[in-house]
Order: sequence, then C-alpha cells, then structure tokens
Amino acid sequence: MNFQYFVPNIEKMPRRKLEALQLKKLKIQIDRALRASFYKERLSKAGITSSNSIKSLDDLKKIPFTTKNDLRNGFPFGFLAVPKEKIVRLHASSGTTGIPTTIYFSREDIKQWAHYMARCIYGTGCTKSDVFQNMITYGLFTGGLGMHQGGEEVGMMVIPAGPGNTARQFKMMQDYKTTVLHATPSFLLHLEAKMKEAGIERESLSLKRAFAGAEPYSEDTRRRIEKLLKIDVFNSYGLSEMNGPGVAFECQCKDGLHIWEDGFIAEIVNPDTLEPVKDGEIGELILTILCREATPIFRYRTRDLTAFYTEPCKCGRTHRRLHRITGRSDDMLIINGVNVFPSQIEEVIMAMKEVGNNYLIVVEKDGALDKLIIKVEVGPDIFMDDSRPLNALKDKIKENLQVSISIRPHVELHENGSLPVTEGKAVRVKDNRPKDV
Ligand code: ADP
Ligand code: ZN
Repeated sequence: MNFQYFVPNIEKMPRRKLEALQLKKLKIQIDRALRASFYKERLSKAGITSSNSIKSLDDLKKIPFTTKNDLRNGFPFGFLAVPKEKIVRLHASSGTTGIPTTIYFSREDIKQWAHYMARCIYGTGCTKSDVFQNMITYGLFTGGLGMHQGGEEVGMMVIPAGPGNTARQFKMMQDYKTTVLHATPSFLLHLEAKMKEAGIERESLSLKRAFAGAEPYSEDTRRRIEKLLKIDVFNSYGLSEMNGPGVAFECQCKDGLHIWEDGFIAEIVNPDTLEPVKDGEIGELILTILCREATPIFRYRTRDLTAFYTEPCKCGRTHRRLHRITGRSDDMLIINGVNVFPSQIEEVIMAMKEVGNNYLIVVEKDGALDKLIIKVEVGPDIFMDDSRPLNALKDKIKENLQVSISIRPHVELHENGSLPVTEGKAVRVKDNRPKDV
C-alpha cells in the first residue's frame, strides 16, 4: 500500500522527539492557562505558578483532572485565556449528557484545527481531486464546520450538505460526482435503505470513502456499511472540548485510530481509581490539548472507554493508536444488577445477517425487576406476515445476547425501515425506569 502523509516529518517523528515536542507545547499551554481565571486558581492550588513548574511530561500528573462540570461551572468565560477581541468563533457540545459546554477559538486556533483535521483526511487516501459531501450537522456542533475546514485544507471540493433529505443528498452525489462522505454511522446505514427505495443504482454514484464518527459503532457495523455502500469507511473520533473531529482518525490500515500526539496528550486511566491502566488495557481516555490558545484544557475526563494499541502501525506513523471507543463510562446500564454496555448489544445484533440496520434498547420497570427490551428491524428480505421464521429469529437474537451479556432480553421485531432515525447522534437507549431507582 502507498501510504499518504500530510506532514511526514511530524507524523513519523521518533517517539523521543515527539515527547520533547509535547513537553515544549505543554509548557506554552501552562503559561497561557494561567491567564484564565479557572486555571489560575486550579494550577496555583496544585503548586504550578509558571511553566517552570513543569520539568518533564510526568509533571502533567500534578495537574488535577478537568471534568465537564468544571467547564459548566466556568461558564461563560472562566476558561478563556486570551482577550475577547482575539476570539473569532465559539462552538458548543451537543449536550448529550446535560448543559452544553462552550469552547472559544482564536484565528490561529481555527487554523490549527483545520491542519489536524486535514492530516486525518489526507491519511485516508483523499486528495484535492476528491469531492467531499459533508452530511453532518453544521452550527454549534463541531462536526460540520470542523470537517469542512479540514476538507478545504486538503484542497477537496467541499459540499456543505448537512444531514437529512436523502433524496437531495443523492441528487448532489450524482450532480457533483461525490467521492467522499462524512456522516454518523447510523445515517450511513439509513442512506443505503433510502437508496434502494429511491431506485438509485450504486453504479451511478462515484463514492469511494466515508468518514463515520460522533457516536460509537462496532466493527460489524463498519463492515455492513462498507458492503452495502461499496466504500471504505474510516472511524473518526473527536469531542468539542478538544476542538471536535480531528483528534484521532484511522489511517489507510483501518486498524485503530491514530491520535495526533503533537496536538494532544492522551492518558488512559481506570475510571474508578483514576490511576493509569497498564498499556493495552481498557480505561477512560484523558486528553490535554496542546494546539489551542483561547481555551486550554488539561487532563479532560472524556468518559470515553478505549485502550492503546501496543504495537506500532504498519503505516509508519509513530503517533499511538486507540481502539474503537466502546462507549462512555456513564452509558453503562445496570439491569437487575448486571452491567451492560449498549455497544455489547450492538455488536451481537449487527453481526446477524437477518437483522436490518436499526435497533433500539428500552429498559423498563416490571414490578421490582428491570426489563430489557430490544426492538430490532428485520432485514429487507424478511416479511412480517410469516410468523415461523420470525419466531426463530427472535429466539436466535435472545440466545446470542444471552451468551454475550448474560441477560435474556425481550425482543420485538419491526418491519425494515420502521424504527425512527435521528439526524444527529443516534438515540439507541431509552431508559424508562424512574430516576430515583
Ligand atoms: P456531547 O459530549 O454532548 O455528545 P460532542 O459533540 O462533543 O458532545 O461529542 C463527543 C462525544 O461523541 C465523544 O466524547 C464520544 O463519546 C462520542 N464520539 C465521537 N466520535 C466517536 C467515535 N468515532 N466513536 C465513538 N464515540 C464517538
Ligand atoms: Zn497507521
């Protein structure tokens, strides 16, 4: 394979040099952060009064973790480290788990973000000859504009399509000969069904690749999208606290997401003890941004669960790789005392060929007990009026789930294409249990 590098001297930098660069940038971030009211207090309390207090990368551990709540408490300007006149834009998180948090960018910050994003895009094999249809939400959400700028930086022709209206999306793909898509994995799955419905021939489209992110999805879901749409799908990870997309991305090997370590310091800790896990073990990802002056953030608790790869990547990049994010630590459902992650359920369902592209996990109270209901769409070739195969499929789903999560759920089968599809991040779990239990 002919690997592509946007900035080879940085992407293949020897680790020792990369760590020296991280330390240099970390010190700059400390001096910047001391101008923000929140960190002035937080860092001083930790005995850090200037960048001189940081002598090695290990000294990062002197800085306490920053949480989403800290960001909320610092609202609106507690984290701002530059005069307001230097800010050219703000973004806010989508607020999946509460009040959104706000991040400010200077002109230089926007440039930096576009640069890291461009590295991700170029690393998948895209070039300026590509036509990029960005089917993700624009606005306060970082996915739209973030990926857009990166596409322009690579020199692709970017179509700021936004999500929804599949008929119009297909029209644009045909008119402009789109080669690259960006969407949530759930929207990409939905697109394929709509394509069939609209009678659009895959051959009439020029699609080659898609970037899929913003929500967790399994390797089976990736394979499903690749097979259905006949494209290469690359996993894209980011969060608004760390700019947005452009933090970690898969290269042409499609085996783990390289995290740009000259822009971010990544740690993985046990979410209960907050001690570092052993290399290769799963834990909570902690991120420090090195490439943003207006809103520095240290040791941010992402709540996202992942592990580092221990082997270097075949592409030659020295920046470490993360495993596919399996979910957030606060996504975990406790069902009659058993811990279950929605990603475990997805893995089982999406590996079954008879199942369609959409599902919903519902938890209810049934007397004193919890009841887990999995609503699953059947595949397009399965008819809802023939009960024998349907019952057999239901049993098979129950059994496969029991093996994986140790719970035998209730399973409801739904007609292909009948479960609701959201435009932004998919809502996969409805926990209807009273909040105080
Ligand atoms: P919010 O935290 O309100 O959802 P963001 O838009 O900042 O707002 O979303 C970032 C979060 O989305 C990440 O912390 C992670 O949980 C999830 N996410 C983003 N990309 C991926 C991905 N490729 N795989 C799994 N989860 C992802
Ligand atoms: Zn690689």
